[in-house]
This record gives sequence, C-alpha cells and structure tokens, in this order.
Amino acid sequence: MRLRDVGEFGFIDRIAAMVGEDSRVVLGIGDDAALLDLGGPELVAVTTDAMLEHQHFDLTWLEPGEVGWRAASGALSDLAAMGATPVSVFCTVGLPPFWLVEAAEALLRGVAEAARAVDATLTGGDVIAAENALVDIMALGLVPDGQQLTRGGARPGNLLAVTGSLGAPAAAVQALSEWGHDALDHDPRRAPIRARFAHPEPRVAAGRAIALSGLATAAIDISDGIIQDAGHIAERSGVRCIIEAPRIPVAEGVRAIAEELGTDPLPWILAGGEEFELLLAIEPNSAEALASLEEVAAIGLTVIGRVEAGEGVVAVDDSGQVIDLPTGGWDHFWRHPRS
Ligand SMILES: [Mg+2]
Repeated sequence: MRLRDVGEFGFIDRIAAMVGEDSRVVLGIGDDAALLDLGGPELVAVTTDAMLEHQHFDLTWLEPGEVGWRAASGALSDLAAMGATPVSVFCTVGLPPFWLVEAAEALLRGVAEAARAVDATLTGGDVIAAENALVDIMALGLVPDGQQLTRGGARPGNLLAVTGSLGAPAAAVQALSEWGHDALDHDPRRAPIRARFAHPEPRVAAGRAIALSGLATAAIDISDGIIQDAGHIAERSGVRCIIEAPRIPVAEGVRAIAEELGTDPLPWILAGGEEFELLLAIEPNSAEALASLEEVAAIGLTVIGRVEAGEGVVAVDDSGQVIDLPTGGWDHFWRHPRS
C-alpha cells in the first residue's frame, strides 16, 4: 500500500494510532492545534504548517516576503481556530544556495511581519539547504482552559457560520494559471483578489473573541476548502453538516474573474483552500450576539448551514438539492502526480 492509497488523512490517523497517552496532552493529533497543560494558568496551543515551492507556492506568482507571510499566516490561522492568542512563531526554511540573500531575508521578514501583526514574535527556527524552497512554521499560543475552540463540540440543531467571504484564493490561482503570472497586477478590479491571495489575515482577534464568548460549540479554519473542513467538524463531533451554498458570502472580485474565465465560481467557494476564515458551529440563538462582537463585526459572520444528526457533509442549492462536486478539497498525497 502506498501513501496515495491511504491519503493524507488516512496517514495522519495511522500516526495518531502510534503515539502513547500523556496526561499533559489535553488535545492531541486531529484538531487545528494540539493543546498542552504545562501547569500554567492557560493551555499552550501548538501547531505546525509546511509549504513547499511548486507545491504550495510559486515564486513567479508571489514575492518571497509574501510567501513568508502566507506560510506564517497558515499556522497562525490554526491558532485562531482554537481561540488561542499567538505568542511565538518558529520558522525552518530550506533554501537553494543560489538564492539572493535579499530574497531569503525578504521571506523571513514576511514571516516576522505576520507574527508581529498578531502581537507574536519570530522566536527561532532552522536554516537548511534545499533544492526547492521550503517554509515550515511552528506557532505557539495560549488559551484559557475551558475556553478553547475545537472541532469536536458541534451538536444537532446548531447552525454553521463562516467569517468573512470565500473564493478569492482559488480565483487568484485560476486567474494566474490561465492568464499568466502578472494577471492580477495591473487591473485595479483584481487588486482585492491579489491582496487576499498574497496577504491573507488570520482571524486571530475574532477567534479569541469567539472563544471567550463561549457561544461557539466547534470551530475550524478553512485551509482545505469549506466542504472538507466542515467534514472534519462532522467527523470529530459525530454529526452531519449541511452547507447551504447560496448563503456563503463571495469575496469581492471573484464573480468578475469567473465570468471572464467563463466558469462557475461555486467550486472555488466550496473547495478552495487557504481561505483562513473560520467555520463555526453555534447555538441557533447566538448568531446575532456572535456577529455583534467587535472583532467579529469587523470581518462579518454569516450563517451558511446547519448541523444534523448523522455523518458526513453535503452542500445544497437554493431548492435543497445536493450539489455534486467535481473535487473534494485538498489532500496532499492525492494531488501528487500518479505514476
Ligand atoms: Mg486548520
């Protein structure tokens, strides 16, 4: 059996099965971050996230500083999904020796700026030589015990809500693929798409406020597409998630790009990754209170579905018909070329 046969998540399940019990581990493998009780007043949240050149980023599409910002933001977004306040970011970079020092510094500056933007610091890491650039981030944060958000608390009768709007990263990738590396540079109508793609803002302040409010029963950040990430909530909570696709807010500029490409933006919205918005399960009567929290109101919160008894996740259209999706989100092994 090969990795591509078990897939990324099948492989993670196998890793989880080989680690032993540890009373300090409050939450281990299988959520956005691990939670450790190290004896302090708050739990320590830890997550890692790696990005590889040609696989997750392309330097003809992004400046080195943007690559660093995005990589750090991916890990910080996982802390946001736990309701944790970031403290430290560690960065291991693998870089080809022919790189200009200025480009390498710019990449690390991007990491440091993303950390500083959420009041954390780049605290350490490692530098190795590599054939293709690699950015591996570990992020560490704190969350008061009992206030943490996890994927596991959704209950039948809950609503599903999403922060912000979706579709921009996938629209950017499609536009860059079809129109070339400068497709988003010169048309001001495409500037918001490029900004969302190159400079995503992890929802750290909103995640913290939501966690402290106690009004959400489950949370995940959308890194692999809303359908797949809702599937993680469904699995960990033992429920079924219904996504009402027409209710999902679409990011500015997405529909215009879809129209120009002559394509339907729905797969971008449902299966596009690296959105770094938060998907929440909430009690039905708390939507208004959550949306009016200052940090949440700043980015918006929209009810886009519901939680039922059962398992799995479906997206439905206006009339409640199940939408057939050509792709199911991101799996690192399945996206590798088959040989
Ligand atoms: Mg995540």
